[in-house]
Amino acid sequence: MGKVLIIGAGGVATVAAHKVAKNADVFNEIMIASRTKSKCDALAAAVAKATGRTDIKTARVDADNVPELVALFREFQPDLVMNLALPYQDLTIMDACLEAGCSYLDTANYEPKDEAHFEYSWQWAYRERFEKAGLTAILGCGFDPGVTSIFTAYAAKHHFKEIHYLDIVDCNAGNHHKAFATNFNPEINIREITQKGLYYEDGKYIETEPMEIHQPLTYPNIGPKESYLLHHEEIESLVINYPTIKRARFWMTFGEAYLKHLEVIQNIGMDRIDEIEYTAPKADGTGVETVKIVPLQFLKAVLPNPQDLGENYDGETSIGCRIKGIGLDGKEHTYYIYNNCSHQAAYEETGMQGVSYTTGVPACIGARMFMLGLWKKPGVHNVEEFDPDPFMVELGKQGLPWHEIHDGDLELD
Ligand code: NDP
Repeated sequence: MGKVLIIGAGGVATVAAHKVAKNADVFNEIMIASRTKSKCDALAAAVAKATGRTDIKTARVDADNVPELVALFREFQPDLVMNLALPYQDLTIMDACLEAGCSYLDTANYEPKDEAHFEYSWQWAYRERFEKAGLTAILGCGFDPGVTSIFTAYAAKHHFKEIHYLDIVDCNAGNHHKAFATNFNPEINIREITQKGLYYEDGKYIETEPMEIHQPLTYPNIGPKESYLLHHEEIESLVINYPTIKRARFWMTFGEAYLKHLEVIQNIGMDRIDEIEYTAPKADGTGVETVKIVPLQFLKAVLPNPQDLGENYDGETSIGCRIKGIGLDGKEHTYYIYNNCSHQAAYEETGMQGVSYTTGVPACIGARMFMLGLWKKPGVHNVEEFDPDPFMVELGKQGLPWHEIHDGDLELD
């Protein structure tokens, strides 16, 4: 039994809070803390209504502020802090965990606010400090990163002597019936997909123009969808933890309308992350005033909130790993392991769409693994460094069943 503190009250945190509340055999005390306390209160009330769990505490905290975090951690004394705010807060929350003696879990690697660039080096630099403090940090425990890395660990443990080719394929074949919307935080999402593509081959990284490489891939129960090679964070740790990998790539589907909107957003500079000055008449009519805005943050404010997409979202997501390598029998084999998740089923259970669901459920299971002592290892670890088996059992039980296809056509050379 343990105490968990969830930071953030957005789409992913909403799903994780529902699931954590349902795992009452493991989480005996729960707190939700975020920048806007009213959102935490509303979430705690929604969870109470859905699960009957009325003892969830809430608090306001600015997760950019280490002393504020430390004060909250010392007061509540969680065993584990689940960082379900934004990647900008990873390091401040890790600092506070070290100071207050709490373990840590997140779903996205650190990214500085002023540079659209993500990599693990900043968080891996905390390894020794977490190790010395006897605390565990579990990095990237959503779906991708998260389940995709655990799928790879499972394949390596049960099906392959050597993994040679890894393609992570992420398809969202859902329709939210909006002209343009992102499925998770718009600022983080647009920063991610407008970056150059990157993949790993023969010991080095190869950079591409954004969306330069694409091809149709067939997704189970969905059919063919144009899939684009993107830079994605789990590749960085997987090629280190599985050094037999010769090539690792990440693919994501996008519809034509989505790409057209994205192109316009970029062409008119609305994806800029630097501050610009905006001069407008004062509301009281006494002249003009100049305010500073970051265009992408302003865009986020006018785009649909991903948390509001669920009600009219139909269709499903399909995310998995397509792997080729040398099987346990010494012969070459292919393997495809995936999960399909229905947006409507996710909404009915948690009020959120499938993308929040596929992230929040694994975060809860990772926290469960930690509380049970199955994933407790002082230091800073990517999820593939833990035993995948107990996680995979829970994944099926907690709403994300997975399927395997042996020796099928991976469609990828
Ligand atoms: P949302 O924007 O819906 O939620 C973010 C939450 O964090 C909000 O409640 C926000 O508060 C809060 N927050 C932001 N800044 C602070 C701060 N300084 N202090 C305290 N709270 C803060 O995002 P999502 O739920 O869509 O995404 C959450 C995380 O999940 C992101 O890191 C995202 O990258 C990651 N993710 C991972 C995926 C995976 O598969 N691994 C897939 C999808 C998302 P407020 O409401 O006041 O703004």
